[in-house]
Formats: sequence, structure tokens, C-alpha cells
Amino acid sequence: MKTLYWFTRDLRLHDNAALLAASKSDLLLCVFVVDPRWFAPGPMQTRTMGGHRWRFLWQSLMALERSLRPLGQRLHIAFGEPETVLPELARDYHVDRIIRSRQPGTREARQWQRLKDTVPIPVFQQFETLSLFTENALPMALADLPDTFSQFRKQVEAAGARHSDRLRIRTLTALPPPPGFLEDNRGDCPAIPEPHHPLAFTGGEPAGLGRLNQFLYTDHGIARYKETRNALDDWNASSKLSPWLANGCLSVREVAESIAAYETAHTRNESTYWLWFELLWREYFHWYALKHGARLFLRDGVQRKRRQATFYGHRFKAWCEGNTEYPIINAAMNQLRETGYMSNRARQLAASCFVNELELDWRFGAAWFEEQLIDYDVASNYGNWQYLAGVGADPRGLRQFNLEKQARQYDPVGTFVDRWGGEARQPVGLHTVDAADWPLT
Ligand SMILES: Cc1cc2nc3c(=O)[nH]c(=O)nc-3n(C[C@H](O)[C@H](O)[C@H](O)COP(=O)(O)OP(=O)(O)OC[C@H]3O[C@@H](n4cnc5c(N)ncnc54)[C@H](O)[C@@H]3O)c2cc1C
Repeated sequence: MKTLYWFTRDLRLHDNAALLAASKSDLLLCVFVVDPRWFAPGPMQTRTMGGHRWRFLWQSLMALERSLRPLGQRLHIAFGEPETVLPELARDYHVDRIIRSRQPGTREARQWQRLKDTVPIPVFQQFETLSLFTENALPMALADLPDTFSQFRKQVEAAGARHSDRLRIRTLTALPPPPGFLEDNRGDCPAIPEPHHPLAFTGGEPAGLGRLNQFLYTDHGIARYKETRNALDDWNASSKLSPWLANGCLSVREVAESIAAYETAHTRNESTYWLWFELLWREYFHWYALKHGARLFLRDGVQRKRRQATFYGHRFKAWCEGNTEYPIINAAMNQLRETGYMSNRARQLAASCFVNELELDWRFGAAWFEEQLIDYDVASNYGNWQYLAGVGADPRGLRQFNLEKQARQYDPVGTFVDRWGGEARQPVGLHTVDAADWPLT
């Protein structure tokens, strides 16, 4: 059997159920498709893939290629639309089967369906590699996924599922050979931008596993995580695993099992539990996105709740560029633009400001995060934005953070604001729109 393995958000050899299935072939074509549409502005004025994301992804692809070579494999990196590229490859290499990881997102679902409709081969398979649990191992049917995280967590924990449902799959050490070596067109991909700022994040499976080991065993950051996790700007205050998790360089089950191993070998406390608890949030949003499909992207959210919000270009620009009247927001937005990362606390404040102070349609903020964040994950990003906009999984509805109070609490002497140049700007005029609600500037 000849298999085309479509790498997507599973750029690793460890704990990869989809690649394991693909390895049971005579010949295996490993493909990653870089879609030109990622780099063009979309309907929300932003691109899917900003420079930081692209750099991290490219580093991850290069690391994957380095891991594949000793196994006699190579990575075919195609620049083109998957709906065109994959049928051509399937035809040219006479493949009988296409495999990829199952993933949330309407675009991702549409592409898979298009492939199934157009490529005349018998077998298409998806495997769950992005989550702690497979759908079958969830303690409820997907259609019955609770409306709130706490109900979900209680049901998961009541079912005794403290960690993942299956043992991790060993790192693959052998793969079938590729069906010949055709040149790919990776040279057409956009250039990789230089970082503005020395980044601590390097894409790829070895770097992701390295960070996991560092956070747990070198720095023991996990043992005090609950007290430190809300810090705005401290490398070891939180795990910083999200970019590797989002790109699949790191398996979430590997992280869960490592937490359990740490608890056995070192200490088990509220902090070690809390890291697991945060992984459960990620898990919840994963299934939430799969359950709600296109409703994840609707202004009125899964709650179908109408909120007064629109698009004011000048306010949106001021927020993106760190030019609002709120120093803490400016600092956070500058940090995001310069590094591609922002802490969870800062994300909450930036989103609350976007929705409440600037009265903007949350989807534009989510789209900017999508472009900028190196850990962009469709489910976690849109799920968290909906939550903060009061149209998603938060039963308490719209929540507004008091930005001054938050600044006093989390940046009492202004270190964060100074570091990221977050001085206050002129207030953004609120009503510069004409009678038809079009922005005047
Ligand atoms: C508006 C908004 C947008 C966000 N967009 C994303 C996104 O695109 N991608 C993303 O991975 N996270 C997103 N998050 C969640 C969270 O901010 C990041 O996962 C976290 O800051 C990453 O840093 P860390 O790895 O050090 O997290 P830690 O605090 O060390 O947490 C460990 C892991 O748990 C998961 N996690 C933690 N908090 C959350 C959460 N609230 N929701 C879902 N998973 C969580 C992440 O996988 C994270 O790596 C968003 C949060 C908000 C408020």
C-alpha cells in the first residue's frame, strides 16, 4: 500500500497515532502544504500567518525533516493550495490512502471533504493526535459536551480520567521509504523574517521536549505554577509550552504523562494539579470547536447573543499598534507584535479592553491574534475570545476587567509597561463614524 501522509498540526514522531497508522505501508509520502492564502489579507483585514508564526512553523518543519532523514524518509514541502496540490501528488505517486490528524476548524474540515470528493482513492483516514482523549474516550457524547468548562472538568474527573486515556505511543524509529524523490517547490515559500527581538522560542519537536523537561525537571517551575502563572512577563512563571502544543511538535498526552511522572518522582501539590487543569481547558476548547463548527466564528457566538459591536478602523489600529490610552494594553500589544507571544493574563486584559473599552467586534481581535500568536490554535483562540466577549462558554456573560486595578496588581512598579514601551497615548475618539456607521478616519 502507498500512503500519502499529510502533516498538519502534528509535526512530531513521538505519540503520533496518525503517523503510526501511516507507517504500516509499503511506501510513504510525507507532505506538508504551505498554503499561499495564509499570507494574504483575509476578510478581517489580517493575514492568517504573520511573521512570527511563520518563522516558528518553518523551524518546526526543518526540525521534522532532520528527524525524518535518519529513518530514510524526507519531507515534501509543497507551496500551493492543498485542494490542488494533494490530488496532484496522489495521482503522480499513485497513492491508495491519505492520512492526516483530525482537527477542529471549518476551513480544515472543508479541505478534507474536498479531498475526499475529488481524489479517487479508496481510503481516507483521520486520527486524533491533538487532544488528551479520543472522542470515544470522552465521558460524554460530543453532542452533549457541557456548555461550561467546569461541568466538563467535573465529568472528566468523575470518570477517573486524571490523565490521558491511553498510553503514549512510542517515538517512531522506522518508517517505510518514500516512493521516489521528486523535487518540491519549497523555494517559492515566503522568506523567513528575522526576529525583531531575541526569541526564546524555537520551533520543532526537540525544542518542545526540551522545554517540557526544563520547566519540570531543571527549573521545577511546575511545583509553584499556581502562584506564578498570572505573571505578565516571566519566562518560568508558566510553562510556555503552547507554541509547541499548537503546532503539534509536542503531544499534549506527553505533557500530561510527564506531569504524572513528576508527581510520582518529586512532589504533587496544587500547582502540579493546576498545570493539568489548564491542559483540560485546552481540551475543552478542542471539543467545543468540533461540536460547534462554524458557530465558533459567529459574532453572536455559540450562545447566539446579540452584542452591540462593530468595526472602527482607527480603534482597531490603535489596539494592534499599542497606541491606546491604556499603558498595560499597549505594553502587551507591543510584546505580541515583537515576539509573537503574550501571557494568559495579558491576553485576557487585551481582549476585555477590545470588547468593552473599545467596543469592537471580538472577531477582529481574534483575527489579529491569529496572525500574530506563535501558539495560535483555532479552538483555544476563538473559544477564549468568545468566552471573554460573553457569547461563548462563560455562564456569567460579558466580563470587564478593571484595567487600572489589574495594572496595580500585576505590574505594581511598571516594569512590564517600561520594558515593552507601553506609555499611554491620546484616548481613541469613540464616535468617529458617519450616519451609516462607517468609520470617518
Ligand atoms: C483571548 C485569548 C486568546 C488565546 N489564544 C490562544 C491560542 O491561540 N492558542 C493557545 O494555545 N492558547 C490561547 N489562549 C490560552 C492561553 O493564554 C495560552 O495557552 C497560554 O497563555 C500559553 O502560555 P503557556 O504555555 O505558558 O501556558 P500555561 O499557563 O503554562 O498553561 C499550560 C498549557 O495549558 C493550555 N492553556 C492554558 N490556559 C489556557 C486557556 N485559557 N485556554 C486554552 N488552553 C489553555 C495551553 O496549552 C498551555 O500551553 C488564549 C487566551 C485568551 C484569553
